[in-house]
Amino acid sequence: MYIVTVDIEKCKGCGDCVDACPGQQLALVEEDGKKYAMFKGSPDDCLGCLACQEGCADGAITVTEL
Ligand code: SF4
Ligand code: SF4
Repeated sequence: MYIVTVDIEKCKGCGDCVDACPGQQLALVEEDGKKYAMFKGSPDDCLGCLACQEGCADGAITVTEL
């Protein structure tokens, strides 16, 4: 099981992680005019492949094994 956290201070809302995830576990959300990525999946469904973490140029994503 994995948990994926997004540092919304660092996230630029580019969507690269959303596109990189093979399991559609991430989505872009917009709040107060700021767009950022959010983990929408469940810890059971995340593959732990790190594509999102490695694909984020801003270092905003951390994947942690539970
Ligand atoms: S790739 Fe990084 S900066 Fe882009 S939406 Fe995902 S977390 Fe945010
Ligand atoms: S670790 Fe892989 S499966 Fe899990 S959210 Fe990131 S890209 Fe998707």
